[in-house]
Amino acid sequence: MDTARIAVVGAGVIGLSTAVCISKLVPGCSITIISDKFTPDTTSDVAAGMLIPHIYPDTPIHTLKRWFKDTFDHLYAIACSAEAADAGVHLVSGWQIFQSIPAEEVPFWADVVLGFRKMTEAELKKFPQHVFGQAFTTLKCETSAYLSWLEKSPVKTQAPAQVLNNSTAGKGKSE
Ligand SMILES: Cc1cc2nc3c(=O)[nH]c(=O)nc-3n(C[C@H](O)[C@H](O)[C@H](O)COP(=O)(O)OP(=O)(O)OC[C@H]3O[C@@H](n4cnc5c(N)ncnc54)[C@H](O)[C@@H]3O)c2cc1C
Repeated sequence: MDTARIAVVGAGVIGLSTAVCISKLVPGCSITIISDKFTPDTTSDVAAGMLIPHIYPDTPIHTLKRWFKDTFDHLYAIACSAEAADAGVHLVSGWQIFQSIPAEEVPFWADVVLGFRKMTEAELKKFPQHVFGQAFTTLKCETSAYLSWLEKSPVKTQAPAQVLNNSTAGKGKSE
């Protein structure tokens, strides 16, 4: 049977993640990533890389929650693996603060992140302009490290196309 030849357009976090996923789903395929920019010149390289979901009004909450949980679980496994430092994926704790009380004090993703709770009055005093806050631990991708880690499997690098060979694509992933 002929080897499946697949092209993915874009070398940001979506394109590279898609290529790695396909390489696992289609054994023996060859994947070409076609892009005008690669790391460190993509938008993905400048993202803070914090994992917190947004609400898209046309997408049901249960779907958003499933996407978020799948992503959280995937990155959490990487953060707990020996690859964490190379991949630039780690846990980060912090606060999300509000100048007015949000419609949902406990968001749909509260039980996906770790240790979600409302901020205490004492903590909120550090932010005099804010009336409400949430404390939790989520995941952070150091995106330039993460993109380089996703790219590690390519056997050839050439602008504007970059080739991932399935025999090595996704190598080092914790799944
Ligand atoms: C300052 C900042 C902070 C952010 N912080 C966060 C955050 O904390 N958490 C979070 O989840 N998101 C954050 N984001 C959003 C996040 O960066 C984007 O959602 C994400 O990078 C999109 O990834 P992408 O792969 O779709 O796009 P990109 O990274 O833009 O990649 C697109 C790829 O497609 C290529 N391409 C585009 N058009 C063509 C074409 N016509 N021909 C060939 N190649 C093409 C580009 O060269 C590039 O390689 C932030 C964004 C910014 C700007």
